[in-house]
Amino acid sequence: MDSQNKNIRNFVIIAHIDHGKSTLADRFLEMTGTVDANKMKPQYLDKMDLERERGITIKLKPVRMDYKEYILNLVDTPGHVDFSYEVSRALEAVEGAVLLVDASKGIQAQTLANLELAKQQNLVIIPAVNKIDLPQAETEKTLQELANLLNIDKDGILKISGKTGENVERVLERVVNEVPPPSQNLSSADIEAGKALRALIFDSEYDAFKGVIAYVRVVDGEIKTNQKIKLMASGAVTFAKEVGYFKPGFSKQDKIFAGEIGYIATGIKEPGLVGVGDTITVDDPTKQDVQPLPGYKEAKPMVFASLYPEDTDDFDILKDALAKLKLSDPSFIFEQETQEALGRGFRCGFLGTLHAEILSERLRREFGLILIISSPSVVYKIKNNKDKEIFIYSAADWPEQTYIKSSEEPWTQLEIIIPLAYLGGVSDIIKNLRGNYIETKYLTNEKLILIYEMPLNEIITNFYERLKGASKGYASMNYKIISYRPSVLVKLEILIAGQKEEAFSKIVPEEKAFQEGKAIVEKLKEVLPAQQFSVALQAIVGGKVIARETIGARRKDVTGYLYGGDYTRKRKLLEKQKKGKKLLKAKGTVNIPPKVFLEVFRGQ
Ligand code: GDP
Ligand code: MG
Repeated sequence: MDSQNKNIRNFVIIAHIDHGKSTLADRFLEMTGTVDANKMKPQYLDKMDLERERGITIKLKPVRMDYKEYILNLVDTPGHVDFSYEVSRALEAVEGAVLLVDASKGIQAQTLANLELAKQQNLVIIPAVNKIDLPQAETEKTLQELANLLNIDKDGILKISGKTGENVERVLERVVNEVPPPSQNLSSADIEAGKALRALIFDSEYDAFKGVIAYVRVVDGEIKTNQKIKLMASGAVTFAKEVGYFKPGFSKQDKIFAGEIGYIATGIKEPGLVGVGDTITVDDPTKQDVQPLPGYKEAKPMVFASLYPEDTDDFDILKDALAKLKLSDPSFIFEQETQEALGRGFRCGFLGTLHAEILSERLRREFGLILIISSPSVVYKIKNNKDKEIFIYSAADWPEQTYIKSSEEPWTQLEIIIPLAYLGGVSDIIKNLRGNYIETKYLTNEKLILIYEMPLNEIITNFYERLKGASKGYASMNYKIISYRPSVLVKLEILIAGQKEEAFSKIVPEEKAFQEGKAIVEKLKEVLPAQQFSVALQAIVGGKVIARETIGARRKDVTGYLYGGDYTRKRKLLEKQKKGKKLLKAKGTVNIPPKVFLEVFRGQ
């Protein structure tokens, strides 16, 4: 028996986005002396530039802290619905969850969704109302909301401020007292019987020297540096190049034990061989009784977009980059495809449009890739005139209308949580969408849950932003896919200077074709740089022009605002663009800066 386990506590912080998870983690890091005071900075664990600039957590982050005689393994999580796969993986590595609710916002959609996930894992929940220092905090009201939700007494909920540190230590005290230690390690009888190391991979990243670094929860046994190991699902056999803990940087150890969260550098250079959910064990023929751990449900991407390198020579870099990014973001999928106008690229599936945007931004920043990105689209289903069902992932694959017998699109059940005061504004937005109202539930007498059924297509672009705009940030939402339903759909195409730009093509409900077509050409007029000649922008359905705009000759130079930040990177990108431009000029077409694709998808 391993007595060490008694002093280990593994827990996550879960909450709706912006309720203060990463800031609370900062206080933990300080109080436990894990990070030196002079190195501390806000949201310390959000180490990606992209996370810091946008102020959102994209990745789960493990960190091991010493607190009194205890070892605390904390995993910070993202709060946005598009990154919920990160949360679900983090939950499998721990026994407890600190559930935060912002005292000025109260319960929001991901509070409910993440609490639900934590309950399914049977985690011990430690509830806390956070940001009680805010002048607009409604601490008592929020306490009551949370008490009702959890069906407990208000006294059972901590009142804290991750900013000022008030009562933060009490959170750690409760973690120590209430979260159970990880279950006992293997007994000597177990080991005799052929049981051995089992470690669950819950995340990973690529390192040029150490190969794929697997983030693991060690479930049974222990693992030492240089030990021969096997990945049970992929079958890969390798030596553990290095093992260690997160402090929160990699901290090398001689070995890591059952019950702990740590990492194993596998030395494997082929990213596809190391998958999240796989079980690492020892490669030892005498250890016959090792069953793989349950692993994870695969994420189910429902929003697809095609990515093409602007410079066709970059195809291999893109391929390699996608494989590497998949290690740290297993919720997207990619498959090679070829389109006449764009060359070789990848059709990628995402959990939502923010996810698509973040991934393309990471490809640009981390790999210097300039990409052409097609309009994000949901997965449609058609029946062709031979009664065969076909899933359509990209507008480019939409057949001629005469081959289509019927078409269907995915529908969601949508939950919107709002304070009563904003019901009017939110209803105005929903009125224009194709959804069906189902019911209203009262969370409290001032806060509602509105339930709708809604085509996924209506909510993937900008819907959340508009909701927040109409409610001073108070409205929040969550959705799940429920079914495919019949819908009359058409392919909307965009011509720029008479030339079809397939990346802008989009499948739309027939009744919305005009509105969407108009919005796209208007947006293009706004963001596309002028040429030496005037450029016609046309939206077309079934060969007919349904909307049209013109950009006058040479109007303005937009490159200035395209890329802020890092100068050398910017120059590198501009040089690459120049190369691209030359090519396009030679072909006699209009140059479309890659940022324009993103601008068009983001907002109409
Ligand atoms: P996360 O998305 O849950 O990780 O939230 P963050 O920790 O990134 O915090 C979101 C915002 O809330 C940031 O601007 C923080 O400075 C702020 N914040 C977090 N905790 C507190 C708090 O206790 N009091 C106040 N006043 N602001 C806070
Ligand atoms: Mg965060």
